[in-house]
Amino acid sequence: MSCCDQPRLQPVEQALETLLNSAKAIVETEMVPVTQALGRVLAKDQLSTVDVPPADNSAMDGFAFNATDSTANQQTTLPISQRIPAGIAPQPLQPGTAARIFTGAEVPIGADTVVMQENCEWADDKVTVLLAPKAGDNVRPQGQDIKSGSVIMSHGHRIKPQDMGLLASVGIAEIPVYRKLKVAILSTGDELIEPGTELQPGQIYNSNRYTLTGQMDALGFETIDLGIVSDNFDATEQALRKAAKEADCIVTSGGVSVGEEDYVKACVEKLGGIDLWKLAIKPGKPLAFGNVLGTPFLGLPGNPAAVFVTCAIVARPYLLKTQGANDILPTPIQVTANFDRPKPAKRQEYLRAKLTLNENGEACAELAGNQSSGVLSTASVGNGFAIHPLGGTIKTGEPILFLLFSDLLF
Ligand code: AMP
Ligand code: MG
Repeated sequence: MSCCDQPRLQPVEQALETLLNSAKAIVETEMVPVTQALGRVLAKDQLSTVDVPPADNSAMDGFAFNATDSTANQQTTLPISQRIPAGIAPQPLQPGTAARIFTGAEVPIGADTVVMQENCEWADDKVTVLLAPKAGDNVRPQGQDIKSGSVIMSHGHRIKPQDMGLLASVGIAEIPVYRKLKVAILSTGDELIEPGTELQPGQIYNSNRYTLTGQMDALGFETIDLGIVSDNFDATEQALRKAAKEADCIVTSGGVSVGEEDYVKACVEKLGGIDLWKLAIKPGKPLAFGNVLGTPFLGLPGNPAAVFVTCAIVARPYLLKTQGANDILPTPIQVTANFDRPKPAKRQEYLRAKLTLNENGEACAELAGNQSSGVLSTASVGNGFAIHPLGGTIKTGEPILFLLFSDLLF
């Protein structure tokens, strides 16, 4: 590859294809109430057995009548023959009359039009329609939203808040979903201690565990947290065996680079195998993928920003596919760069960036600050990744692709 000075590094898209081709979706399902379905993956197409709305209804507070009873370009006065609040089944409309009607109330048989009350003058027993209406005005027809018998949501769909409402709107109270994917998380490194204790010389706080726990939570998975694993072969092997037994997938951080203190990769090679190692991604080059005793393994790098990036870009689609989801790859948006990267990227870079509107109302990406793989604060400041494509350059004012964190953390 001409753009890449390290030809053994797999481009991100190619690595993703390999990963996704090997992903096997779990099959076990469970029923959950719609109120608890947020982020879960639908295990079966959902059909509506009703029309939504179930009958023609009024979009306004006003008067319902038949358009043929009004006179074009003139005021029309009609007797009021009934009053129809929402929730009441109306009587058929007497010909030549109007019904007082309210928003959401069923339009009676014989009426086809509603005029809003602001365009009417009325007394107890009669109404004058001031504007000539068009037949069908302000009537929300039966089945306008959903037709009985139609598929409202497909198998593999991840439930969003509006989906919960849509399911409820057709009377569905619980749905079949895939059971939550169990993801084991291991943090490797003798330098790590947990927050809440005082740092001793040589130590740092374990942050990857927390970033990953949050990312797994956001994606709707169950985390099996296996804590800190020290840098030696036996401890690593023990932890990986336990992870393989308990989880559907294993995600580790650290220990996959080339140093003598990196035991994870060697250990995975012993217990299963490595299918892919080292990506043309920045940060996150030493990412490894394989299996431990048949359980899929994703070895993320140790550096905190690299963990955040590789989890969002590489692990997320793989794990979502394993969870049974359909829509797993994020859609980048095209925005204007507000920074320069004149050197062609030797690895595809996911730059922590901030999308804002400039004075012309254009969506503009600015770098969030330091892009070192050890710097996590810029991931917190930013709201997405500006993509510096492999082999490409970036110039202020030119279009670039941007991935919003909100699309990667769901
Ligand atoms: P490694 O790949 O294990 O050599 O780790 C690369 C860098 O990431 C080192 O500076 C580690 O100290 C750091 N690191 C590894 N794991 C963690 C962690 N869980 N939290 C914070 N930093 C980490
Ligand atoms: Mg380490």
